[in-house]
Amino acid sequence: MRPKRVFPTRVEAVDHGGRAKAAHLNPKEWDVTSVAAANGIDVELSRRAAKVVPGGMYGHQAVRNMSSAYPQFFAAGEGAFITDVDGNEYVDLMCSWGPVVLGHRDPVVNQAVHAQMERGDCLDGPGPVLVDLAETLVEVISDADWILFGKNGTDATTACMTIARAHTSRSVVLVARGVYHGAAPWCSPIPAGTLPSDRAAMGYFDYNDQADFDRAVDAAGGDLAAVMLTPFRHVEGQDQELVDVDFARHVRTRCDELDALLVVDDVRCGFRLAYGGSWEPLGVPADLSAWSKAIANGYPLAAVTGREFLRDAASTVFLTGSFWMNATPMAAALATIRRLGEIDGLSLMRRAGSRLREGIQAQAADHGLTVAYTGPDVMPYLTFAGDDDYARMTCFAEAALAAGVYLHPRHNWFMSCAMDDDVVDRALHGTETAFAAVRKHFGGS
Ligand code: PMP
Repeated sequence: MRPKRVFPTRVEAVDHGGRAKAAHLNPKEWDVTSVAAANGIDVELSRRAAKVVPGGMYGHQAVRNMSSAYPQFFAAGEGAFITDVDGNEYVDLMCSWGPVVLGHRDPVVNQAVHAQMERGDCLDGPGPVLVDLAETLVEVISDADWILFGKNGTDATTACMTIARAHTSRSVVLVARGVYHGAAPWCSPIPAGTLPSDRAAMGYFDYNDQADFDRAVDAAGGDLAAVMLTPFRHVEGQDQELVDVDFARHVRTRCDELDALLVVDDVRCGFRLAYGGSWEPLGVPADLSAWSKAIANGYPLAAVTGREFLRDAASTVFLTGSFWMNATPMAAALATIRRLGEIDGLSLMRRAGSRLREGIQAQAADHGLTVAYTGPDVMPYLTFAGDDDYARMTCFAEAALAAGVYLHPRHNWFMSCAMDDDVVDRALHGTETAFAAVRKHFGGS
């Protein structure tokens, strides 16, 4: 007999907004026939992982906070699709949580990767590709005069803070409440193992709230080093909020008045919202920006970009990592950025995103369900009215999964360039089933 995956029926966790959330973990009550839950390889891998990996799996890619139908392990990805270890194929609306921007196994990117692999990846120093890539990014990103590379988004956001403090010789960094900037002690949404002193020089304000922002600036006194903002407000499990342009301009003005730095955390949005930086269309330049995720179509790379006057500070701080100079992810990034420009990838994603939005909004209305579909079309998120315990959203996600659509119930989704009309229609076929399941089990609202 196959071993059964054991799930608690309910979990209490803290989401990125710091609120307690209760997620149903075994929602068999909506009798959705799952494509994944009964299958054996994932179950077996999960059982083995439970013995050798703390908590069975960790980080936000751990599916333990989702329903038991979700597969933990994947075998393959191709274009807009992923396949789990049991051979179930899904339209991938998570795009590996953002990195996969052109599509899984993009042939142009992979060719560049293989060519670099043939020459070497982890050498005693960077390959020539570092300079090619840095030049390309300086050309493409409107407020970038120089680039540093790392591996993860957290490397980049943390480096921005370090550079800002080195430049200003001040301590305080302001961030918006609940917004995710990474997994380091200064920003981890889960306080376990961190110290109050790790956040002692952090200040908080409500996104898009000028008065609250000014209050936080005043509280920093003369010690404000930087303000870090994401291009829009994306907090797990909450409706997303686009930036108020007046707010962005206000922050820019206050930073200029106070000789503090404006840092844009473009880790999640970079190369999806705008080719030259997410706030380029707003005309609000950043002093420093943090990049990762989509920069290399899934290969591990992060970057910090900055303006000329910060070049000295950036060269004095100590930033390094054993794998930061690896050439293969840089080759992937160079191919990704060029390809996005050549095919006008952002337009492709916007087209897919608006088709998905229109389809989902129409389906919700047809089923008599009140939903909020928020955020930019390329990074949307769905909530149901009155769904405080996420029961409707969990039902929706599990039913979508069963119908071959992989999406997350509490995290925003991502579009990729591989999502043509047929792919979106296939996704909509799954979401139609999912809305029907919600309607059936919770009624209209
Ligand atoms: N900033 C933002 C806005 C993010 O979305 C993330 C990752 N979700 C990070 C920083 C941290 O990136 P990483 O997980 O690569 O360290």
